[in-house]
Amino acid sequence: MNIQKNIINIKNALSNSCKLIVVTKTKPIEVLENVYATSERAFGENRVQELVEKYEKLPKDIQWHLIGHLQSNKVKYIAPFISCIHSVESMNLLEEINKQALKNNRIIECLLQIYIAKEETKFGLSETEALEILNSEKINLLKNIKIIGLMGMATNTNDISIVKNEFSRLKTFFDSFHSIKKENIEIKELSMGMSNDYALASDLGSTMVRVGSAIFT
Ligand SMILES: *Cc1c(COP(=O)(O)O)cnc(C)c1O
Repeated sequence: MNIQKNIINIKNALSNSCKLIVVTKTKPIEVLENVYATSERAFGENRVQELVEKYEKLPKDIQWHLIGHLQSNKVKYIAPFISCIHSVESMNLLEEINKQALKNNRIIECLLQIYIAKEETKFGLSETEALEILNSEKINLLKNIKIIGLMGMATNTNDISIVKNEFSRLKTFFDSFHSIKKENIEIKELSMGMSNDYALASDLGSTMVRVGSAIFT
């Protein structure tokens, strides 16, 4: 496993406007220290407890991204330090994030997770539900969150045309949001692409790829 070499190869395949989030979930602290040594600073985790434990043990200039499903009652544990929450799926969750961010005197950046895959198991909002949230009156009251973009996960398939369609559709939807400007909404980040499809995602307009296994092989 040559983490540094893998990271260089991946970044070479990304456009200039596409950032790498190194998905470190399930990896032990020593491995995260090796990632840190490569000077990558954006780390992605999908479980709150694991994320908090790693945050406590590692240098404080790491930007932590939560990419997994988040329960409202766990927001308080990450609110003091989380950099970006990619997996926001409801107004209730946004309200709780806002509440906990306020307690910590912070503004927490969030992405709305959009359901684009064919699989029943994937979480996320429909396009209509996302629009309802962004256009709601309620959202204007949430001064301690900032919605900076969208996240999506493509169907887990080897059929590249399916993945391409799903990414393209999310990009079109993302572009249609540029016109929505509120104090706490500025849709500029598109989090799509993982180990199997980061290059495709970057070509199709992703600004953040979340890559794990391709780095740790
Ligand atoms: C695990 C995970 C990733 C990374 O997946 P790899 O295929 O290992 O690159 C990206 N996004 C989410 C939401 C994940 O849970």
